[in-house]
Amino acid sequence: MIFRTTEPSHRPVERGAARVWLGPGLLAAVILGLGVAAPWPHAGADDGPEIVRIPLADGFDFPVGKPDAEGYYMSRGFWANRHLGEDWNGVGGGNTDLGDPVYSIGSGVVSLAGDMRGAWGKTVIVRHAYRERSTGRVHEIDSFYTHLDRITVEKGQLVGRGEQVGTIGTNRGMYTAHLHFEMRKNIRIGMARIPHARDHTNYFVPSDFINAHRQLRRERGTVPVDINTY
Ligand SMILES: [Zn+2]
Repeated sequence: MIFRTTEPSHRPVERGAARVWLGPGLLAAVILGLGVAAPWPHAGADDGPEIVRIPLADGFDFPVGKPDAEGYYMSRGFWANRHLGEDWNGVGGGNTDLGDPVYSIGSGVVSLAGDMRGAWGKTVIVRHAYRERSTGRVHEIDSFYTHLDRITVEKGQLVGRGEQVGTIGTNRGMYTAHLHFEMRKNIRIGMARIPHARDHTNYFVPSDFINAHRQLRRERGTVPVDINTY
């Protein structure tokens, strides 16, 4: 087709229609292109995928007073849309638990470790893979430890069940010392809660999950997980 210097009066309508038709087409092409190019479905992360092979967890323990939270109590529980984890305190009260060890609840890899400032402070996230008994399916989940006084691991480090990841803190004096602990079904949340529903679709009730998965069958081999999904 040859277009001269002037367009017939109906042309803009046609072009508008063409744009509507091309829009989804281009979008689909982009998505398909990404699908082909991406070696991993979480390639949207800024740094690209970072694949680490980890063993399947052989069970989960409590993050304080390992393995059964002995000497600690839950001072505040999970409440959808309000408190997306559990607060754990030493039975001694006050800051008697300041500096106590915090443990990874299961084997996995550290997917985040650093001072997130604000209301969080020093934070560690460990990514786990485990096989759900009822379905036989392997799931990737995150455990989240925050308000830490010290962090004793770094991103990319493999950790074992019960291995220390940090110590209980006050987040620079903002709180009485306690561990705020979360478990996420959704491994894209990281520190960004806003885009994700603040309920059971994305979060476990931590103690319920741990109690239901204390002992899992030991399996050989490892599974690849991407630790750049935030
Ligand atoms: Zn809390």
